[in-house]
Amino acid sequence: MKEYTPSYIKLFQTGELDNRIKILKERLKGCIVCPHHCKVDRPNNERGFCRAGANMVIDGYGPHYGEETVLVGKGGSGTIFFSYCTLRCAFCQNCEISHHGEGYEVTPSELAKIMLSMQSKRCHNINFVSPSHFVPQIVEAVSLAIKDGLTLPLVYNTGGYDETDTLKLLEGIIDIYMPDIKFGDNIKAKKYTMSAKYFDIVRLAVKEMHRQVGDLKTNEQGIACKGLLVRHLVMPENVADTDKILEFIRNEISKDTSINIMSQYYPAHKSYTFPELSRRINRNEYNAAVKYAQKMGLTNVMST
Ligand code: SF4
Repeated sequence: MKEYTPSYIKLFQTGELDNRIKILKERLKGCIVCPHHCKVDRPNNERGFCRAGANMVIDGYGPHYGEETVLVGKGGSGTIFFSYCTLRCAFCQNCEISHHGEGYEVTPSELAKIMLSMQSKRCHNINFVSPSHFVPQIVEAVSLAIKDGLTLPLVYNTGGYDETDTLKLLEGIIDIYMPDIKFGDNIKAKKYTMSAKYFDIVRLAVKEMHRQVGDLKTNEQGIACKGLLVRHLVMPENVADTDKILEFIRNEISKDTSINIMSQYYPAHKSYTFPELSRRINRNEYNAAVKYAQKMGLTNVMST
């Protein structure tokens, strides 16, 4: 792909972006932003499962070089870490931020300035980490940033527990979707994340993401500008059901899906209350996951 202009510019110019913000903000009143559907009054700071209130909370931001090479390039990925989470995994590696909401509040106008500061530092994209519960406020911030010159691709970096109706309102706004698919079985997902029907929900979400942006495309410098990049963390004893996840991607998304099969699981937070989660994975477990992806005919497998 040569020159890439994010489609949010057009949505902004036609006034459609403002329309989306209005609809998204409605979803916060009696909150149905994510699949938990807590129906709490977020604008008045009532809190549901995620524990987030009216204002966005972030734990930090900056050029990040630890993401996939296609996102990082020379300038880094302009990463913004949102506090709180819709999943609350037992093995969470950032529970102070995700579970306890460590961080500080930012207004949409402050978030817009953060995005523009990372654009001026020559980051290649704006990477929203754990954005699911703050989608309306993030889109409002994006609109303010566009007004002041934002042109970078936007990355939606999520645990995958996303409401499809909310995602539909992001069509033409988000350029790169980067969901985890953590579990290939609803019952195991409920045991380790407290979130119901995870595999059903993430399948619908990833299908919607792929419908919007297709397979991952890069520019002439090899930097991602649009598309889907799935992440999957291999777990001990195959508790994640990696094979079912790879079969879903191959059969229901695309054989050319970019997928990062990750090996960095380590026991954290409450992992030690589950004997099967109390160790790292071994080389055989990781190699079996990569081999299965190859056997399935997936053509864009990354290993980290
Ligand atoms: S975003 Fe938070 S409050 Fe809203 S439905 Fe999801 S978990 Fe509940």
